[in-house]
Amino acid sequence: MTQNYDSKTLIDLEDRLGAHNYHPLDVVCSHASGVWVYDVEGNKYLDCLSAYSAVNQGHSHPRITRALVEQVGKLAIVSRAFRNDQLPLFYKTLLDLIGYEQVLPMNTGVEAVETAIKAARKWAYTIKGVPHDQAEIIVAEGNFHGRTTTVISFSTEAQYRDGFGPYMPGFVIVPYGDVDAIARALTPHTAAILIEPIQGEAGVVIPPDGYLRGIRQLCDDHNILFVADEIQTGLGRTGKLMAYEHEDIRPDVVILGKALGGGVYPVSAVVASNEILDVFSPGDHGSTFGGNPLAAAVAQAALQVIVEENLVENSARMGQYFRERLDEIDSPHIDHVRSKGLMIGVELKPEAGGARRFCEALQERSILAKETHEHVIRFTPPLIIDQAIIDWAMPRIRDVLLTVS
Ligand SMILES: *Cc1c(COP(=O)(O)O)cnc(C)c1O
Repeated sequence: MTQNYDSKTLIDLEDRLGAHNYHPLDVVCSHASGVWVYDVEGNKYLDCLSAYSAVNQGHSHPRITRALVEQVGKLAIVSRAFRNDQLPLFYKTLLDLIGYEQVLPMNTGVEAVETAIKAARKWAYTIKGVPHDQAEIIVAEGNFHGRTTTVISFSTEAQYRDGFGPYMPGFVIVPYGDVDAIARALTPHTAAILIEPIQGEAGVVIPPDGYLRGIRQLCDDHNILFVADEIQTGLGRTGKLMAYEHEDIRPDVVILGKALGGGVYPVSAVVASNEILDVFSPGDHGSTFGGNPLAAAVAQAALQVIVEENLVENSARMGQYFRERLDEIDSPHIDHVRSKGLMIGVELKPEAGGARRFCEALQERSILAKETHEHVIRFTPPLIIDQAIIDWAMPRIRDVLLTVS
């Protein structure tokens, strides 16, 4: 397939040959650099989705790309049946950065969520003393933790569940943002509370101040694990390295993914204490590709770029700038704006007719954003964005929010 095909041909081919489990904007991307994405016709767009925060460091970051290319030419995978020279260095880079004692590497985000669930359950049986097969994990309404059959079992989104039963038991769902609801749901069998510090897929839902501290307190009082899914919120997205830092607490288990792969390769991980991750013995759990040297080399570079390019601080500053400019837009369609750092959601009024139309209008004005649920436009550009680019984008965003009717 060396010939160049136009967008229409490629869209037709994709729709004819592929399963229809996505509804993408009809932009056929062929290359990208930094915050900019180009389609096959050569049109240039500002990426305001960042692959759901997998591209926090920007597209094709030179240093991350170099790490990938150099490593793939040396050693890509041997499986965990043998050791490799990159995995321990990845562990050290990650733990030096965020603390904690052990890492368990996987590939996709949901695999790391599954790993955390397994860890919490086994911890409950072997350390806390919950009777066999009775462990409960408390989760929040509106959660998004991925798409496996176990994880969709505790989704509250009908579309993610319907038709995919029977469902995995052992999960208790409570309203998001309500510590008292968690307290009421506790039983002697509660192993863990699994939450997103900010709910991304639910539409950038930010819990009330004190929510994470309240959960920390409950977990301390009742010997329960606080498991934070930072796959989307972590690694600088919200203006802190980890979103839990906004409330000065530390969860017991942290789940990372997306930007851990530097926008080039899937890498995920669970980090926790020795006590928790020591529940795993050889053979208990694993993944053929998890912890391979290519992933480990990429993840080291991905983390180093976040630190050395001050992307966390830039996310905080540019997030505030982006937010202030958005707040200046006086559109009849906007209900309100929610944001932390460069995780920004514009909630439209129901009568605006849905966020999809606005995202299509943004695409016509060279900005790629994705609607989240019906009424939220999410803006999550790469964390390398600067003021000049936001100034370039804002008249276009304003135009869309004022003129689409
Ligand atoms: C994206 C996401 C996941 C799932 O990650 P995958 O790599 O798609 O499996 C889990 N939790 C949160 C909060 C996410 O945003």
